[in-house]
Amino acid sequence: MAKGFTLEINPSVYLGKYQEDGSWEEKFIEKTHLTKTEEDALPDDKKAEYMMKRNSFPELPLVNYTTQYGFGCFEGLKAFPWKDGSIKLFRTDENAKRLANSMAGMLMPAFPPEKFIFATKKVVVQNHALGFTPPYNKEWEKNDFVLGHTLYLRPFTYSEPGIGLNLSNFPWVVIVTSNVGAYFMPGNAKAITTDMVRANPNGTGWIKCSANYVNSTLAKKKAIAQGYMEAVFLDAKENKYIEEGSSCNIFFLLKDDTLITPELGDTILPGITRKSVITIARDLGMNVRERKISIEEAMSESKEAFVTGTATGVCHIESLTHNGKTALFGDGKMGEVTHNFLKTLKGIQYGRLEDKYGWMVDAKI
Ligand SMILES: *Cc1c(COP(=O)(O)O)cnc(C)c1O
Repeated sequence: MAKGFTLEINPSVYLGKYQEDGSWEEKFIEKTHLTKTEEDALPDDKKAEYMMKRNSFPELPLVNYTTQYGFGCFEGLKAFPWKDGSIKLFRTDENAKRLANSMAGMLMPAFPPEKFIFATKKVVVQNHALGFTPPYNKEWEKNDFVLGHTLYLRPFTYSEPGIGLNLSNFPWVVIVTSNVGAYFMPGNAKAITTDMVRANPNGTGWIKCSANYVNSTLAKKKAIAQGYMEAVFLDAKENKYIEEGSSCNIFFLLKDDTLITPELGDTILPGITRKSVITIARDLGMNVRERKISIEEAMSESKEAFVTGTATGVCHIESLTHNGKTALFGDGKMGEVTHNFLKTLKGIQYGRLEDKYGWMVDAKI
């Protein structure tokens, strides 16, 4: 089996299923596993086969409104290993609320936030107890945890069986986890605008749903094929205002030190990293504005630019290309302000800095 098919899901998984009476039938499943060390030692082909079994859920119906029509929403959040051996979730209550909003937006019965918080903690604790979460490594401290590993949680919804066009009235919520290491992005931090549209007004852009990812992924792949790291979307109506990166929110630091990010609305995804960066910036006394920013303004007035998201963290953009013109931000390297956000956020997440906002949630239950 080709290596590209290997997805390493950890053994402890959550399955919740909406019931006719409005309750949720919940199960924590421990999938078949060896020890982490034994699994890591499997040769590639054996491992792929093994992991394919791990990623097989015969409980879930194959033909349904999610696989056929894209009726599915998801979340992405991380748990961080700390020096004291504990493992802490970052703002799981925020992801809990957002998933409930996304589900309501797709006219499904919403998964209760308190169930989400409990289930995310429990899958972390159980995988931790089985030895599948990444251990803390002092080496990460050397460069602000840029190389730190985390446990990535992917909660998602899945529909009941059906093939006739319909909403998901009896959704499932599944939570799987996977360990993510440091992925080094070799040098390239160039972005280019795309003429594709991610989200239309009055559409689903504010919902974290799989359907939104089709255009995002196509645009990003096209950008990469042209030698860029990221695609930047402009608004659907005027093709003038900056919206987002392909799967992350975007910020510009203007030459007058104002920090700008597009205001939330029905075409912008309310990112939790975005919200956290805004909090940190305001706390530092910075002038933060959530407002429209045109591509012209972003290109002519910015000295730093970066994107934010759970997977990316805070990732600087060296330049932005639009209609054949390129704006370089600063000297193209990560700017001081961007670096400070990165350092502060990771410092809080890995427990090196005081968690004065109460963002870190111990996975203990
Ligand atoms: C998930 C997501 C983000 C980032 O949100 P975080 O909560 O920071 O991970 C940004 N844009 C889109 C389109 C997303 O789906």
